[in-house]
Amino acid sequence: MRNFTDRFITFLFQDVKSEKETKDLAVLLRIMCCIFSVYYLIIGIVIASMQHYILGLLMIGAIALTIGCFILTYDDHTLLSMVLLNTVNIVFATLPALYLGFNLEFHIMIFINILLVYFKKTRRMFHKRIYAFSLMIFLMCLTELCSAFPYYVLPKEGYRLFFQIANIFVFSCLLLTTAYAYCNKFNQAEEKLRRINDNLERMANIDTLTGLSNRRHMNEHLAKLVFEYNRSGKTFTMAIGDIDFFKKVNDTYGHDTGDHVLSTAADIFRNFMKDKGRVARWGGEEFLFAFENMTMDKAYDKLDELRRTIENTPMDFKDYHFHISMTYGMEEYNSRLGIEATINRADAKLYKGKQSGRNQVVK
Ligand code: GH3
Ligand code: MG
Ligand code: MG
Repeated sequence: MRNFTDRFITFLFQDVKSEKETKDLAVLLRIMCCIFSVYYLIIGIVIASMQHYILGLLMIGAIALTIGCFILTYDDHTLLSMVLLNTVNIVFATLPALYLGFNLEFHIMIFINILLVYFKKTRRMFHKRIYAFSLMIFLMCLTELCSAFPYYVLPKEGYRLFFQIANIFVFSCLLLTTAYAYCNKFNQAEEKLRRINDNLERMANIDTLTGLSNRRHMNEHLAKLVFEYNRSGKTFTMAIGDIDFFKKVNDTYGHDTGDHVLSTAADIFRNFMKDKGRVARWGGEEFLFAFENMTMDKAYDKLDELRRTIENTPMDFKDYHFHISMTYGMEEYNSRLGIEATINRADAKLYKGKQSGRNQVVK
């Protein structure tokens, strides 16, 4: 039994084949078809038991049309299925309302059509409004028309109660199903939008080769550090590191080896800076480090440790085995200079380090 239920649910939620169709509408229509089929069967039997055989049989006959709607959703005809289900619903809500009386609430099923039509994604909102307005007019006419007919006298008072409760119950089920489908649709759209946003943000902030923050993202971060400095005097030190003779790495081992070196070094930096601050790819083979809550002297010791780690890490790629080194220039943030001038000072020290033999930290 459980196996059958699982298979039925899988069948119910099966995706549509065509790209033009949407799964959510197809699934909603299928669930509605199931609810309508059971509803028509029960209502048909009860109407027939009141010796209203033709109407009873017609109601049961509506099941065939509903099954047709159900099948159409598997054949990439959800629009046709929706139109057919709407028509069946109008006809088989109107007939008992006319013959048995408006007070038995058969007509409320017609409201479901409006929800269903609005669920379909289309730019033609005008058509939907016209349809909803027409249904409203139709319902008003139906009220008037029903009052012109003599009410069918129900054999027992219990029938009135049954029809009213059954109609309100089924209407509520259809309403809840549609509301749930709407929520699901909005949640999915929101989730999709969030993912796209995250991706865009990532693309705008992260350097694709190294996975480190890019210059733009780092500038944003530095602005926060400056704000924090002004607010609470929390100091920070910046350093620019540049790979020594990187052009030679590219020329000797190839550009892909150069890329490998950049991403390997970036992994080391990321790991190293985890509890110390942030690192970004500042330019080609230049990296900017922000040591948070650290004076220059303290950051110097850390950076020299990193310099040694880089120097001692073997760069193995393809059949190549070699080592690289880096030169660094550093400067503690100076509020009188501002961020740009502080970085320029660090850059000038880096240049000095390059001039005086490389593979060193200049403070
Ligand atoms: P120095 O010790 O003076 O810094 O020498 P250098 O060779 O490292 O300096 P230079 O500025 O002459 O060369 C930097 C090289 O970095 C040139 C450029 O082709 C290379 N480069 C920049 N970005 C990338 C990249 O994304 N991948 C690779 N493979 N190379 C890059
Ligand atoms: Mg270099
Ligand atoms: Mg350089």
